Amino acid sequence: MKLLKEKIKQDGVVLSDSILKVDSFLNHQIDPVLMKEIGDEFVKRFQNEKITKILTIESSGISPAVMAGLNLGVNVIFARKRKSLTLVDELYTASVHSFTKNVTNEIAVSKRFINENDHVLVIDDFLANGQAALGLLDIVEQAGASVAGIGIVIEKAFQDGGKLLRNKGIRVESLAEIEKLDNGQVIFKEEVMA
Ligand code: 5GP
Repeated sequence: MKLLKEKIKQDGVVLSDSILKVDSFLNHQIDPVLMKEIGDEFVKRFQNEKITKILTIESSGISPAVMAGLNLGVNVIFARKRKSLTLVDELYTASVHSFTKNVTNEIAVSKRFINENDHVLVIDDFLANGQAALGLLDIVEQAGASVAGIGIVIEKAFQDGGKLLRNKGIRVESLAEIEKLDNGQVIFKEEVMA
């Protein structure tokens, strides 16, 4: 997605050879015009799927997920990182190891919001080692729902998540695929292939 890649080149900050900071438009301050374009692009790519729900994880997956949900006219659920102590029986839960924070979080979704009739599009901001996406897929499976695919805003293709998920036969659509973070520069996949 051209607009997104331009924004990453312009405003992204390469913190190390594995971490990209995009807090000026996605992870802290949010650019709603760009988020709308991102949501529309996800809907275009999954237009042949009869999606009934979108599932993401708090907090940075919420804005692109909501824009896709607005376009599709379906509800958006975000998995919470702290489960409510009183309602454990009513929750689907999964463990997710965070690549950036190096902690394991229990994520939770209320059983009221996904069921076996749902066809779910999973959306997240970044794909690194795939742990967040696997946790979300685990929850979809516990609910007996089906997966339409995974929409990712920024995939770091040099990490294993994309391969792991695609090898499971899951369709992963990433709007910007980073081949490497090199000397403070973001290099996209097609720049290396060209
Ligand atoms: P994974 O679960 O695929 O290993 O990592 C994805 C999650 O970690 C995303 O939800 C995202 O919040 C965070 N993440 C992973 N890599 C980066 C990165 O380079 N920059 C930012 N801002 N977040 C990242």
